[in-house]
Amino acid sequence: MIAPRIEIDLAKISANAKVLVDIAKKKGVSVTAVTKAFGGRPDIARALVHSGVVALGDSRISNLERLRTDCVRARNVMIRSPMLSQVARVVRSAQCSFNTEMETIEHLARCAEAQGVVHEIVLMIELGDLREGFMPEELDKCLSRVRDLSSISFLGIGTNLACRSGVIPDAEKMSELSRIADRIESQHSMPVHVVSGGNSANLEWLLSSAAVGRVNDLRLGESLLLGTEPLHRNRIDGLAGDAFVVVGEVIESRRKPTQPWGNVAQSAFPRSATFEAPGTGWQTIVALGRQDTDPEGLTLPTGMHLLGASSDHLVLATPDRQVIGTELRFLPDYSALLRAMTSIGMHQVRCT
Ligand SMILES: *Cc1c(COP(=O)(O)O)cnc(C)c1O
Repeated sequence: MIAPRIEIDLAKISANAKVLVDIAKKKGVSVTAVTKAFGGRPDIARALVHSGVVALGDSRISNLERLRTDCVRARNVMIRSPMLSQVARVVRSAQCSFNTEMETIEHLARCAEAQGVVHEIVLMIELGDLREGFMPEELDKCLSRVRDLSSISFLGIGTNLACRSGVIPDAEKMSELSRIADRIESQHSMPVHVVSGGNSANLEWLLSSAAVGRVNDLRLGESLLLGTEPLHRNRIDGLAGDAFVVVGEVIESRRKPTQPWGNVAQSAFPRSATFEAPGTGWQTIVALGRQDTDPEGLTLPTGMHLLGASSDHLVLATPDRQVIGTELRFLPDYSALLRAMTSIGMHQVRCT
């Protein structure tokens, strides 16, 4: 069969989505499925929509456009602050965008007016992870300007934690977000319809909280696709962890010294080389590399470990000789999945 390839099990992805949609629903929370890790591939997106997610979110306009072109019938949300050079495309292909700059919102307003539509916005709020968002004290000024933009509809607020600095979206951060929603309603009399609490890192909080406050939506990517939560990378009960499998083919396998010889300087990818204790061992090369996936993000078959990886070679220590042509199967983490699904060298093969 063709290799390298990533096998996609739609049935497992659907099942994962149903479990998570159900858990969230019991707490009054809807799920926006984040499609960026699979490049907006329409069959996966459709499976997620059928499993009950209320919207599809992506940080890249090209992925949202792909969903539109392929007639995935869903609400599209742009979850990264739009580039000024793309606002017209955002208004055309997304009902709603997440925003962190007033200047961008004003450009969106002009484009929406020109296109004769009303564009919805969610304002992202910085709560300490130091990635995107307005500082809470900037909101008042922003909201009074947003109120005057007739082609912009203020839908609500959101936050994103655990992505840049690993700040945990715990009960304290979530009540802070809820309080901000209450304050906007009381001080500006603007209804806050959506409070988007975060990403897969929020699941621990969701599962352990009796009350979620004003939070009524989560944006889930990793947990839907890989069955894991990103804080400790634990498998979530009831979710499949093998909906995606990366498969590569063995092209060399022989006993070699474990140490290089000759005068040694930097290798092509200096951070990646590791060597075993002096001696000899079975070294196996798989035709799979950094162009195809993130080698450090692969779970290897039992007994094997990663010695190094370059653009096109995955070098493994194996317990014995691997027959040339044998296929080896690897479970990708989020980084490996993201790269595999967006690499032109990786063949995507649906297996259900
Ligand atoms: C990627 C992304 C998500 C999804 O995160 P997961 O950890 O994969 O669930 C949610 N929100 C924003 C703003 C994102 O960029």
